[in-house]
Amino acid sequence: MATITNNLQLVRNRIEAACAQTGRPADSVRLLAVSKTFPSVTVREAFHAGQRWFGENYVQEALDKMTELTDLREQLTLHLIGPLQSNKTRVVAEHFDWVQSVDRLKIAQRLSEQRPAHLQPLQVCIQVNTSGEDSKSGVAPGEALALAQAVAALPRLQLRGVMALPAPSPDPAVQAEALAQVRVVFEQLRAAGLPLDVLSMGMSGDLEAAVAQGSTMVRVGTALFGQR
Ligand SMILES: *Cc1c(COP(=O)(O)O)cnc(C)c1O
Repeated sequence: MATITNNLQLVRNRIEAACAQTGRPADSVRLLAVSKTFPSVTVREAFHAGQRWFGENYVQEALDKMTELTDLREQLTLHLIGPLQSNKTRVVAEHFDWVQSVDRLKIAQRLSEQRPAHLQPLQVCIQVNTSGEDSKSGVAPGEALALAQAVAALPRLQLRGVMALPAPSPDPAVQAEALAQVRVVFEQLRAAGLPLDVLSMGMSGDLEAAVAQGSTMVRVGTALFGQR
C-alpha cells in the first residue's frame, strides 16, 4: 500500500515538474494508471491512494478485474489501450469508458453500433503509428485524418484525440523526435476542425519528454506498480 501511494506521489511530482519546466499548468496532464497484469487488489490500492483513471491492455483481464471491483466501478474510468479485435467490440462497448486504440473504421463502427443507449458515448482516441513498424498497431500518419473524420461522424462515439506508443529509446533526442511526430498529427487533425483535447503519449520512461511535446495524458505502468 505504502509503495503504491509513494509511487503515485513520485509520478505526480514528475508530471508537475515536467509541466513547470515547459510553462504548462500542472493540471494540464492527466495520469492514466496502467494496471495490466496486476491484480484487482493493486487497482484497489491505487484507488484508495486517489487514482481514478486506469488503463488495461487485455479485454478479458480487465473484465475479470472489474467484476472484482464492482463496488468501485462507478467511480473508476476504464480505458482500453491495447489492440482490439472485432469479436471483442461488444463487451468493450458495454464495459469500457474509453478506447484509445482505435486504428480502423470497422472497429469504430462496431463500437458505435454496440454502445448501449443508457451509457454516455464511448470516448475514443485514434491510435497513430509514427514509427512505421509493421508489427505495431496504429494508423499511418497520412491516413489519420480520414479515419478521424469518419470516426467523429459516428453517433455513439466521441472522438477525443490521438494516442501513440512510440518505439522506446534511451536517447532523449530520439524520444523527442518520435513524440513530436505524434504531436504534428494531433495538430493536423485540430487544424482540420476536429475538436480534440487529448494527446495521449508518454509512459514510465519518457513522460517528461512527452509532456514537453504537449502530451495531455501520460499512461504509466511500471513506475507505479513495478516491473511486469
Ligand atoms: C504497458 C503500456 C503502457 C505503460 O508502460 P510503462 O512503461 O509500464 O509505463 C502505456 N501504454 C500502453 C499502450 C501500454 O501497453
